[in-house]
Amino acid sequence: GLAIAISDGVLNPPLAVAQDKNTGKKKKIVILGTGWAGVSLLKDLDDKQYDVVVISPRNYFVFTPLLPSVTAGTLEPRSITEPVRRIVAHRNVMYCEAECTNIDHVTKTVTCVDCAETKPSRPHVEFKIDYDYLVIAVGCQTNTFGTPGVAENCHFLKEVEDAERIHQNVVDCFESASIPTLSDAERRARLNFVVVGGGPTGVEFAAELYDLVYEDLVDLYPVTRDAVSITLIQSGDHILNMFDERISKYAEDKFKRDGINVQTNCHVNAVKENEVETTEKKSGQTVMIPFSLAVWSTGIGTRPLIRKFMEQVGQKNRRVLATDEWLRVRGCEGVFAVGDCATIEQRKIMEDITYIFKLADKDQNGILSLEEFKEAMETIRGRYPQIDMYLKSHHLANTMSLLHEAKQLGQESEVELDIDKFKQALAQVDSETKLLPATAQVAAQQGTYLARCFNDMDYCEEHPEGPVRVRASGRHRFQPFRYKHFGMFAPLGGEEAAAELPGDWVSIGRSSMWLWYSVYLSKQVSWRTRFVVLFDWTKRFVFGRDSTRI
Ligand code: FAD
Ligand code: MG
Repeated sequence: GLAIAISDGVLNPPLAVAQDKNTGKKKKIVILGTGWAGVSLLKDLDDKQYDVVVISPRNYFVFTPLLPSVTAGTLEPRSITEPVRRIVAHRNVMYCEAECTNIDHVTKTVTCVDCAETKPSRPHVEFKIDYDYLVIAVGCQTNTFGTPGVAENCHFLKEVEDAERIHQNVVDCFESASIPTLSDAERRARLNFVVVGGGPTGVEFAAELYDLVYEDLVDLYPVTRDAVSITLIQSGDHILNMFDERISKYAEDKFKRDGINVQTNCHVNAVKENEVETTEKKSGQTVMIPFSLAVWSTGIGTRPLIRKFMEQVGQKNRRVLATDEWLRVRGCEGVFAVGDCATIEQRKIMEDITYIFKLADKDQNGILSLEEFKEAMETIRGRYPQIDMYLKSHHLANTMSLLHEAKQLGQESEVELDIDKFKQALAQVDSETKLLPATAQVAAQQGTYLARCFNDMDYCEEHPEGPVRVRASGRHRFQPFRYKHFGMFAPLGGEEAAAELPGDWVSIGRSSMWLWYSVYLSKQVSWRTRFVVLFDWTKRFVFGRDSTRI
C-alpha cells in the first residue's frame, strides 16, 4: 500500500500521488522528523493498523542530552545515535532520507527533496507523498536573535556534526597554542573559550569543556596549563535560571571556584571574527571579550518549513505552531504537531463560559445551586486542567474554595450563582495556563501519547474516553495530553551534578552525578547504545578523554 511516485524533473513535478482512497485500505500516517518526538511516536505506533511513512533528512536519532559529552571526547558520536533503519526494520514503515519542503493541508500532500550528497552535480529528486494523518515533528533551529556575526563566527551545539566540530576545534586550539615560538600573549589568545547562553546546554558544555581541559588536555599540552580561559556569558541575572535558586547559586559558585569566568547580565550585541561585543546591562558599558572558539547555545528558532506552514494555516507571526490539547494543529484537518516545533494552547474557560453554564444548569432555571456548581466542576476539570493547577498553586482544597475566594459563599445552602457570579468565580483560573518547555522529555511524552491515540482510534471512536464536550454533545475521543515532569539535571563538571526532582526536591553533588549516569543509561533507545555509552564512560574513567583531531 505504500506507493510513492518519484518525479524525474526538479521543476514542476507532476502531482504524483498514487493512493486509493475509500477502498478500505489502511490509513496512511506521515511523520516528519526523527528526533525525540518522531521516534518515540514511531516506536509505539501500531504499524499493523496503518501504513507509516517517515521523512527526515537525518537517518538517525540523536540522544541530545549527551551531545555535550561528544564535544569533550567522552562519548563517541555513534554511541549516542541510533539508525532509523534499525528502528523501522521488519515493520510496515517506509523511511525516506529527505527533507520536507512544503505541506499542503488542502490536498493533504507533503513535498520532499532527497538529501543525497555523494554526487552534488546530480539534481535532487523532488517527490510528493499524500497522507491521511500528518505528524510534524521537525524540531527547531538555534536562534541567533538576529545578532550579527553569530552564524559566521560561532559554533552551534545542536547536531552531532556540531559536537564533533567543536571537539576538533578545541583540540586544534591546544595544538596551535603549543607551537614553541609563540609569546605568552599569543598562546593565551589561542586558548580563550567563550560560551554564550547560561541555560542547561551552555552550562553543561562549559562544565564538560572545563573537565576536558583540566583533567586531560593540560597534562598532554603542558605549556598551555596557565594560559586557558573559559567565559560563560548569560543575559539574565543568573545562570540556570529555570532551575531552583539553590542550584543556580551552587553552579555559579562552583564555576567561580573553578576559574570559569561567569558574566551575567551581559548582552551580546555582535560577534566579530575574534571577539564578542557585549554590553554590561547594569553599567551600560561595552566590553569586548576575545575568543579563539565561541559556542552559541541559546534560543529556539523557527524552521523555514514551519514558518511557511504557519502562514498557510493562519498562524502568522508566531514562533512555533499552535495546537490544541490533543496536539492537533489549529486551522487544519488531520495534522498534528509535537516537540520543539509546537506548543499547546490551552483552551480558556472564559471562551466557553456560557456553554459551561448551560451544561451545569441542569434544571435550566438560570441559576446554579451548589450541587450544580460542584458537579459541573467535576465534569470539566479534565477539559480545563488549569482548574487543578489553579487550586494547587493557590493552595485551595477543592473547587468550592473558588467560591470562598470570590466571596460568593455565605451559608452553603444559600449558594445561588447566576452567570455573572459564575464568571467571577472562575475569572482568575485561566491565568494559570503554562507553556511546556522545549525539552526531550516533553517531546518524547507527546510522541508516546500520540502513538496511543492512533493505536486506539477505532476503539475510542465507539467508546470515547475524553472529557465531556461543552459546545457539542457527547465526549471527546481521548483525554487531552498531560505532561508529567520527572525532574531535570544539570551536570556541573568534576563528577558533580544538580538534580531538581518533582516536589521541590533538590540534590547537588556526586550522588546526583551517579543518578545522572543511571537515568541517562536507562533512557537509551536501544540496548546497543546503552552498551556503547556505558563502554565509553568506562573507557573515559580508565584512559581519559580523547584528544585526536578527527
Ligand atoms: P528534534 O529532536 O530536534 O528532531 C527534529 C527532527 O526533524 C530531526 O530528525 C531533524 O533532522 C528533522 N527535520 C528537520 N527539518 C526537517 C524537514 N524539513 N523535514 C523532515 N524532517 C526534518 N532536553 C532535555 O529534556 N534534557 C536535556 O538534557 C537536553 N539536553 C540537550 C542538549 C543539547 C545539546 C540540545 C541541542 C538539546 C537538548 N535538549 C534536552 C532539548 C531536546 O533535545 C529537544 O527538546 C528535543 O530534541 C525536541 O525533540 P523534537 O523531536 O521536537 O526535535
Ligand atoms: Mg439551576
